[in-house]
Amino acid sequence: MTKVMKFGGTSVAHASNINKAIDIVWEAKKKGDDIVVVVSALGGITDDLIKLADLASKGDSKYEIIFKAICGRHDQAIKELIDEKNPRPTPPNCGASQEKALKEISKKYKELGELAKKIFSAKELSLSNLDAVMSFGEQLSSYLIGEGIKSRGISCEFVDSRDIIKTDDNFGSANVDLEKSYKLTSDCFKGKTLSIMGGFIGSTSDGKTTTLSRGGSDYTASLVGAALDASVIEIWTDVDGIMTEDPKKIKDALLIPEITYEKAEEMAYNGAKVIHPKTIRPAVLKNIPIYVKNTFNPTGSGTKISNGKR
Ligand code: ADP
Ligand code: ASP
Ligand code: MG
Repeated sequence: MTKVMKFGGTSVAHASNINKAIDIVWEAKKKGDDIVVVVSALGGITDDLIKLADLASKGDSKYEIIFKAICGRHDQAIKELIDEKNPRPTPPNCGASQEKALKEISKKYKELGELAKKIFSAKELSLSNLDAVMSFGEQLSSYLIGEGIKSRGISCEFVDSRDIIKTDDNFGSANVDLEKSYKLTSDCFKGKTLSIMGGFIGSTSDGKTTTLSRGGSDYTASLVGAALDASVIEIWTDVDGIMTEDPKKIKDALLIPEITYEKAEEMAYNGAKVIHPKTIRPAVLKNIPIYVKNTFNPTGSGTKISNGKR
Protein backbone atom coordinates (compact mmCIF):
# COMPACT_ATOMS: atom_id res chain seq x y z
CA MET A 1 0.00 0.00 0.00
CA THR A 2 1.13 3.55 -0.71
CA LYS A 3 0.53 6.51 1.51
CA VAL A 4 1.02 10.11 0.39
CA MET A 5 1.90 12.51 3.19
CA LYS A 6 1.94 16.25 2.47
CA PHE A 7 3.42 18.76 4.90
CA GLY A 8 2.55 22.45 4.58
CA GLY A 9 4.69 25.55 5.12
CA THR A 10 4.27 25.92 8.89
CA SER A 11 4.91 22.20 9.37
CA VAL A 12 8.32 22.62 7.72
CA ALA A 13 9.07 26.24 8.66
CA HIS A 14 12.37 25.43 10.43
CA ALA A 15 14.43 22.52 11.73
CA SER A 16 12.46 21.86 14.88
CA ASN A 17 9.15 21.63 12.97
CA ILE A 18 10.80 19.62 10.20
CA ASN A 19 11.93 17.14 12.85
CA LYS A 20 8.31 16.80 14.00
CA ALA A 21 7.27 16.09 10.40
CA ILE A 22 10.07 13.52 10.03
CA ASP A 23 8.92 11.80 13.25
CA ILE A 24 5.44 11.48 11.73
CA VAL A 25 6.85 10.06 8.47
CA TRP A 26 9.02 7.59 10.36
CA GLU A 27 6.10 6.36 12.48
CA ALA A 28 4.13 5.73 9.27
CA LYS A 29 7.07 4.08 7.53
CA LYS A 30 7.52 1.63 10.39
CA LYS A 31 4.05 0.29 9.66
CA GLY A 32 5.33 -0.97 6.32
CA ASP A 33 3.59 1.20 3.72
CA ASP A 34 5.45 2.79 0.85
CA ILE A 35 5.52 6.51 1.52
CA VAL A 36 5.67 9.53 -0.77
CA VAL A 37 6.34 12.74 1.14
CA VAL A 38 5.21 15.96 -0.58
CA VAL A 39 6.45 19.18 0.95
CA SER A 40 5.68 22.87 0.63
CA ALA A 41 8.30 25.56 0.80
CA LEU A 42 9.50 26.53 4.28
CA GLY A 43 6.79 28.82 5.72
CA GLY A 44 6.96 32.35 4.29
CA ILE A 45 9.53 31.51 1.62
CA THR A 46 7.13 31.67 -1.34
CA ASP A 47 6.10 35.19 -0.30
CA ASP A 48 9.77 36.13 0.07
CA LEU A 49 10.54 34.80 -3.40
CA ILE A 50 7.70 36.85 -4.89
CA LYS A 51 9.06 39.96 -3.12
CA LEU A 52 12.54 39.16 -4.42
CA ALA A 53 11.31 38.85 -8.00
CA ASP A 54 9.22 42.00 -7.71
CA LEU A 55 12.08 44.13 -6.33
CA ALA A 56 14.54 42.77 -8.89
CA SER A 57 12.13 43.57 -11.73
CA LYS A 58 11.90 47.17 -10.46
CA GLY A 59 15.67 47.46 -10.57
CA ASP A 60 15.79 47.64 -6.75
CA SER A 61 18.98 46.03 -5.49
CA LYS A 62 17.32 45.35 -2.12
CA TYR A 63 16.28 42.06 -3.68
CA GLU A 64 19.78 40.90 -2.70
CA ILE A 65 18.92 41.26 1.00
CA ILE A 66 15.94 38.93 0.58
CA PHE A 67 18.06 36.55 -1.47
CA LYS A 68 20.64 36.34 1.32
CA ALA A 69 17.95 35.84 3.96
CA ILE A 70 16.42 32.97 1.96
CA CYS A 71 19.81 31.25 1.61
CA GLY A 72 20.54 31.86 5.30
CA ARG A 73 17.28 30.26 6.44
CA HIS A 74 17.90 27.10 4.43
CA ASP A 75 21.54 26.86 5.51
CA GLN A 76 20.46 27.23 9.13
CA ALA A 77 17.88 24.47 8.76
CA ILE A 78 20.51 22.14 7.25
CA LYS A 79 22.96 22.91 10.07
CA GLU A 80 20.36 22.08 12.70
CA LEU A 81 18.95 19.02 10.92
CA ILE A 82 22.27 17.41 10.12
CA ASP A 83 23.97 17.63 13.46
CA GLU A 84 27.61 16.68 12.88
CA LYS A 85 28.39 16.83 16.59
CA ASN A 86 25.70 14.26 17.25
CA PRO A 87 25.82 11.92 14.27
CA ARG A 88 23.30 9.11 14.23
CA PRO A 89 24.45 5.59 13.30
CA THR A 90 23.38 5.08 9.71
CA PRO A 91 22.99 2.01 7.49
CA PRO A 92 24.68 1.99 4.05
CA ASN A 93 23.24 4.43 1.47
CA CYS A 94 21.62 6.46 4.23
CA GLY A 95 23.07 9.22 6.29
CA ALA A 96 23.83 12.74 5.19
CA SER A 97 26.80 15.04 5.46
CA GLN A 98 26.21 18.64 6.49
CA GLU A 99 29.10 19.81 4.34
CA LYS A 100 27.84 17.95 1.28
CA ALA A 101 24.28 19.19 1.77
CA LEU A 102 25.43 22.82 2.14
CA LYS A 103 27.54 22.49 -0.99
CA GLU A 104 24.72 20.87 -2.95
CA ILE A 105 22.09 23.43 -1.92
CA SER A 106 24.46 26.28 -2.76
CA LYS A 107 24.20 25.19 -6.42
CA LYS A 108 20.47 25.95 -6.19
CA TYR A 109 21.20 29.34 -4.60
CA LYS A 110 23.53 30.09 -7.50
CA GLU A 111 20.80 29.24 -10.00
CA LEU A 112 18.28 31.44 -8.16
CA GLY A 113 20.80 34.27 -7.84
CA GLU A 114 21.54 34.19 -11.57
CA LEU A 115 17.84 34.23 -12.42
CA ALA A 116 17.25 37.18 -10.07
CA LYS A 117 20.15 39.05 -11.67
CA LYS A 118 18.65 38.43 -15.11
CA ILE A 119 15.30 39.86 -13.95
CA PHE A 120 17.12 42.82 -12.35
CA SER A 121 18.94 43.60 -15.62
CA ALA A 122 15.84 43.16 -17.79
CA LYS A 123 13.69 45.23 -15.39
CA GLU A 124 10.72 43.12 -16.24
CA LEU A 125 9.07 40.08 -14.74
CA SER A 126 7.42 37.56 -17.04
CA LEU A 127 4.95 35.09 -15.52
CA SER A 128 7.30 32.35 -16.65
CA ASN A 129 10.21 33.84 -14.70
CA LEU A 130 8.00 34.43 -11.66
CA ASP A 131 7.09 30.72 -11.65
CA ALA A 132 10.74 29.80 -12.02
CA VAL A 133 11.61 32.00 -9.03
CA MET A 134 8.71 30.70 -6.90
CA SER A 135 9.64 27.10 -7.65
CA PHE A 136 12.84 27.46 -5.65
CA GLY A 137 10.83 27.34 -2.41
CA GLU A 138 9.83 23.72 -3.00
CA GLN A 139 13.07 22.81 -4.79
CA LEU A 140 15.05 23.87 -1.72
CA SER A 141 12.68 22.49 0.93
CA SER A 142 12.35 19.06 -0.67
CA TYR A 143 16.11 18.70 -0.99
CA LEU A 144 16.88 19.77 2.55
CA ILE A 145 14.10 17.79 4.21
CA GLY A 146 15.21 14.71 2.24
CA GLU A 147 18.72 15.21 3.65
CA GLY A 148 17.18 15.61 7.11
CA ILE A 149 15.43 12.26 6.72
CA LYS A 150 18.63 10.60 5.52
CA SER A 151 20.61 12.04 8.42
CA ARG A 152 18.42 9.93 10.69
CA GLY A 153 19.58 6.78 8.96
CA ILE A 154 16.39 6.44 6.94
CA SER A 155 16.86 5.80 3.25
CA CYS A 156 14.94 8.36 1.16
CA GLU A 157 14.89 9.03 -2.58
CA PHE A 158 14.53 12.51 -4.03
CA VAL A 159 12.15 13.05 -6.95
CA ASP A 160 12.08 16.27 -8.99
CA SER A 161 8.37 17.11 -9.35
CA ARG A 162 9.05 18.75 -12.69
CA ASP A 163 9.92 15.34 -14.15
CA ILE A 164 6.49 13.90 -13.32
CA ILE A 165 3.92 16.72 -13.05
CA LYS A 166 3.41 17.90 -16.63
CA THR A 167 1.36 21.01 -17.33
CA ASP A 168 0.39 23.55 -19.95
CA ASP A 169 2.03 26.98 -19.95
CA ASN A 170 -0.65 28.80 -17.98
CA PHE A 171 2.03 30.17 -15.65
CA GLY A 172 0.89 30.88 -12.10
CA SER A 173 -1.97 28.40 -12.28
CA ALA A 174 -0.91 25.75 -14.75
CA ASN A 175 -3.31 23.02 -15.85
CA VAL A 176 -2.04 19.51 -15.29
CA ASP A 177 -1.94 16.96 -18.11
CA LEU A 178 -3.38 14.13 -16.04
CA GLU A 179 -2.70 11.30 -18.44
CA LYS A 180 0.97 12.17 -18.94
CA SER A 181 1.55 13.01 -15.28
CA TYR A 182 -0.10 9.85 -13.93
CA LYS A 183 1.96 7.66 -16.25
CA LEU A 184 5.24 9.40 -15.39
CA THR A 185 4.38 9.34 -11.69
CA SER A 186 3.48 5.67 -11.52
CA ASP A 187 6.61 4.74 -13.52
CA CYS A 188 8.81 6.93 -11.35
CA PHE A 189 7.74 5.52 -7.99
CA LYS A 190 7.96 1.83 -8.95
CA GLY A 191 10.19 0.09 -6.41
CA LYS A 192 10.63 3.18 -4.21
CA THR A 193 9.68 2.71 -0.57
CA LEU A 194 10.25 6.22 0.78
CA SER A 195 10.58 9.27 -1.45
CA ILE A 196 10.30 13.02 -1.17
CA MET A 197 9.25 15.65 -3.70
CA GLY A 198 8.21 19.30 -3.70
CA GLY A 199 4.56 20.20 -4.10
CA PHE A 200 3.24 23.13 -6.14
CA ILE A 201 5.58 22.84 -9.12
CA GLY A 202 5.56 21.14 -12.48
CA SER A 203 6.86 21.75 -15.97
CA THR A 204 5.65 22.16 -19.53
CA SER A 205 6.40 19.63 -22.25
CA ASP A 206 9.29 21.86 -23.38
CA GLY A 207 10.77 21.91 -19.88
CA LYS A 208 9.68 25.32 -18.55
CA THR A 209 8.97 25.37 -14.81
CA THR A 210 5.35 26.05 -13.84
CA THR A 211 3.35 26.39 -10.62
CA LEU A 212 -0.11 25.07 -9.82
CA SER A 213 -1.37 28.21 -7.99
CA ARG A 214 -0.83 29.33 -4.41
CA GLY A 215 -1.43 26.58 -1.88
CA GLY A 216 -1.10 24.05 -4.70
CA SER A 217 1.03 21.49 -2.82
CA ASP A 218 -2.19 19.88 -1.55
CA TYR A 219 -3.17 19.36 -5.19
CA THR A 220 0.22 17.77 -5.96
CA ALA A 221 -0.33 15.31 -3.10
CA SER A 222 -3.71 14.36 -4.46
CA LEU A 223 -2.38 13.94 -8.02
CA VAL A 224 0.39 11.66 -6.80
CA GLY A 225 -2.08 9.71 -4.65
CA ALA A 226 -4.38 9.18 -7.62
CA ALA A 227 -1.51 8.21 -9.93
CA LEU A 228 -0.28 5.59 -7.45
CA ASP A 229 -3.72 4.36 -6.35
CA ALA A 230 -2.70 5.27 -2.83
CA SER A 231 -4.65 3.91 0.11
CA VAL A 232 -4.73 7.34 1.71
CA ILE A 233 -3.65 10.95 1.18
CA GLU A 234 -2.70 12.83 4.32
CA ILE A 235 -2.55 16.62 4.44
CA TRP A 236 -0.49 17.61 7.51
CA THR A 237 -1.03 21.23 8.50
CA ASP A 238 -1.07 23.58 11.50
CA VAL A 239 -4.67 23.09 12.69
CA ASP A 240 -6.54 19.99 13.90
CA GLY A 241 -8.38 19.44 10.63
CA ILE A 242 -11.19 21.09 8.71
CA MET A 243 -13.15 23.21 11.17
CA THR A 244 -16.57 24.84 10.97
CA GLU A 245 -14.80 28.22 10.49
CA ASP A 246 -11.22 29.44 10.18
CA PRO A 247 -9.95 28.76 13.75
CA LYS A 248 -7.51 31.67 13.47
CA LYS A 249 -10.47 34.03 13.07
CA ILE A 250 -13.25 32.32 15.03
CA LYS A 251 -12.15 31.07 18.46
CA ASP A 252 -14.94 28.56 19.00
CA ALA A 253 -14.67 26.93 15.56
CA LEU A 254 -15.31 23.19 15.88
CA LEU A 255 -13.44 20.30 14.30
CA ILE A 256 -15.38 18.44 11.60
CA PRO A 257 -14.35 14.78 12.11
CA GLU A 258 -15.80 13.52 8.80
CA ILE A 259 -16.92 15.30 5.68
CA THR A 260 -17.86 14.30 2.15
CA TYR A 261 -15.74 15.16 -0.86
CA GLU A 262 -18.52 17.45 -2.12
CA LYS A 263 -18.82 19.43 1.11
CA ALA A 264 -15.03 19.72 1.54
CA GLU A 265 -14.69 20.92 -2.05
CA GLU A 266 -17.43 23.48 -1.52
CA MET A 267 -15.72 24.79 1.65
CA ALA A 268 -12.38 24.96 -0.17
CA TYR A 269 -13.89 26.89 -3.10
CA ASN A 270 -15.52 29.21 -0.58
CA GLY A 271 -12.11 30.08 0.83
CA ALA A 272 -11.28 27.49 3.54
CA LYS A 273 -7.54 27.71 2.90
CA VAL A 274 -6.84 24.51 4.85
CA ILE A 275 -7.22 22.54 1.62
CA HIS A 276 -6.67 23.70 -1.94
CA PRO A 277 -9.91 23.33 -3.92
CA LYS A 278 -8.30 21.30 -6.72
CA THR A 279 -7.22 18.64 -4.23
CA ILE A 280 -10.56 16.89 -4.09
CA ARG A 281 -11.18 15.82 -7.72
CA PRO A 282 -8.27 13.38 -8.27
CA ALA A 283 -9.08 11.68 -4.94
CA VAL A 284 -12.81 11.37 -5.72
CA LEU A 285 -12.18 9.68 -9.05
CA LYS A 286 -10.09 6.98 -7.34
CA ASN A 287 -12.16 7.01 -4.14
CA ILE A 288 -9.09 7.69 -1.97
CA PRO A 289 -9.80 9.10 1.48
CA ILE A 290 -8.01 12.33 2.40
CA TYR A 291 -7.14 12.98 6.03
CA VAL A 292 -6.37 16.51 7.20
CA LYS A 293 -4.20 16.33 10.31
CA ASN A 294 -2.20 18.54 12.64
CA THR A 295 1.61 18.17 12.63
CA PHE A 296 1.63 19.71 16.12
CA ASN A 297 -1.02 17.32 17.46
CA PRO A 298 -0.32 14.13 15.51
CA THR A 299 -2.44 11.86 17.69
CA GLY A 300 -5.55 13.96 17.02
CA SER A 301 -8.11 12.25 14.80
CA GLY A 302 -8.16 15.02 12.18
CA THR A 303 -10.77 15.24 9.45
CA LYS A 304 -11.57 12.38 7.11
CA ILE A 305 -12.74 13.45 3.65
CA SER A 306 -14.43 10.61 1.76
CA ASN A 307 -17.55 9.61 -0.13
CA GLY A 308 -19.24 9.18 3.24
CA LYS A 309 -20.08 5.50 2.62
CA ARG A 310 -18.78 2.86 4.98
P1 ADP B 1 -0.39 24.73 5.01
O1 ADP B 1 0.76 25.65 4.95
O2 ADP B 1 -0.21 23.59 5.96
O3 ADP B 1 -0.86 24.30 3.65
P2 ADP B 1 -2.49 26.72 5.09
O4 ADP B 1 -2.10 28.00 5.78
O5 ADP B 1 -2.52 26.72 3.62
O6 ADP B 1 -1.57 25.56 5.68
O7 ADP B 1 -3.92 26.24 5.62
C1 ADP B 1 -4.13 26.08 7.01
C2 ADP B 1 -4.86 27.28 7.52
O8 ADP B 1 -6.16 27.33 6.94
C3 ADP B 1 -5.13 27.25 9.01
O9 ADP B 1 -4.04 27.74 9.73
C4 ADP B 1 -6.37 28.12 9.13
O10 ADP B 1 -6.07 29.41 9.57
C5 ADP B 1 -6.92 28.23 7.70
N1 ADP B 1 -8.34 27.90 7.58
C6 ADP B 1 -9.26 28.61 6.91
N2 ADP B 1 -10.47 28.07 6.98
C7 ADP B 1 -10.34 26.93 7.71
C8 ADP B 1 -11.26 25.92 8.13
N3 ADP B 1 -12.55 25.93 7.82
N4 ADP B 1 -10.77 24.89 8.88
C9 ADP B 1 -9.46 24.84 9.22
N5 ADP B 1 -8.56 25.79 8.86
C10 ADP B 1 -8.98 26.82 8.11
N1 ASP C 1 4.55 27.19 -1.28
C1 ASP C 1 3.37 27.41 -2.08
C2 ASP C 1 2.57 28.58 -1.50
O1 ASP C 1 2.98 29.17 -0.52
C3 ASP C 1 2.52 26.18 -2.24
C4 ASP C 1 1.96 25.59 -0.95
O2 ASP C 1 2.39 25.98 0.13
O3 ASP C 1 1.08 24.73 -1.05
O4 ASP C 1 1.58 28.92 -2.06
MG1 MG D 1 -1.98 25.27 2.20
